[in-house]
Amino acid sequence: MNIDKRVRDTGVFFYYQQGERLRDFPQALEGILERDTVFFYDALYPLKPKASFDLEPISLEMLHTIHSPDMVSRVKATGNYEGALYSASGTVAAAVRIYSGELTNAFVFTGFGDHHAGSDFFGGECYFNGAALAIHELRARFGAERVAIIDTDAHHGDGTWELFEKDPMVAYICLCSGQSRETNHKVDLHVPPRVSDHEYCSIVRNALREWVRPFQPEIIFWNWGYDGTAGEYGDIGLTPGVHLDLARDIKKAALEICDGRLVVVLCGGRRRDYARLLIPGIIEILADQGVY
Ligand SMILES: [Zn+2]
Ligand SMILES: [Zn+2]
Repeated sequence: MNIDKRVRDTGVFFYYQQGERLRDFPQALEGILERDTVFFYDALYPLKPKASFDLEPISLEMLHTIHSPDMVSRVKATGNYEGALYSASGTVAAAVRIYSGELTNAFVFTGFGDHHAGSDFFGGECYFNGAALAIHELRARFGAERVAIIDTDAHHGDGTWELFEKDPMVAYICLCSGQSRETNHKVDLHVPPRVSDHEYCSIVRNALREWVRPFQPEIIFWNWGYDGTAGEYGDIGLTPGVHLDLARDIKKAALEICDGRLVVVLCGGRRRDYARLLIPGIIEILADQGVY
């Protein structure tokens, strides 16, 4: 048995969020959070005093390493600044704890996603690019070099693409409706407007084999959106179960490529029933102690 191929500890990063989609959380994680190898980091939860929050909002100084001061001001004006800040904070904290060896992998609950946030623009309910902020922090604190981001949200990640376009040390694999293209380890993989679970899983498996594994990243970020599921706003015909298959494949790849280091960041998707069904399932898979 190779101990490096086994998941040790899994982190769940959560802050209290208004709105419908995550209304069943964290109570829907009952039975998972009690495990010895699952650690829960939360903030802004109404039952807890502020002094006991496990998540600190990231600093303005850190935001300015990725986003222009003008853009940060524009985000402040939307009224969603605090939620955007805590969403990105969870991703940064998860990555730092994985790099410092406290955790093998993590799931980050976000109120707002990452991938439409660029250096000086935002949209589509994304305000700050948590993965980009986390990568900056990993480089500054740990000298991190090669990082991969795989993005299975239904839409093109224009912000993430722009931020890393000229960075050869970040591989970005984006499954979206655009034509397939590759430049400097930034890869768009075309997904047809209607796709079967089988076809979609094949695209992801090929991407892991052809783009992620040869790149040899030290950590993988998975921008996981479920907005391509049937009945969602980005519906491409996927069934809910495909997301659990993707979680197994990506976790396995992370174990084989980078000692399991994986951050799953919640991205698009609106339905509460899908969140209730899929998020506990994905965290179960992350925390599974099986040897690969
Ligand atoms: Zn989307
Ligand atoms: Zn794309």
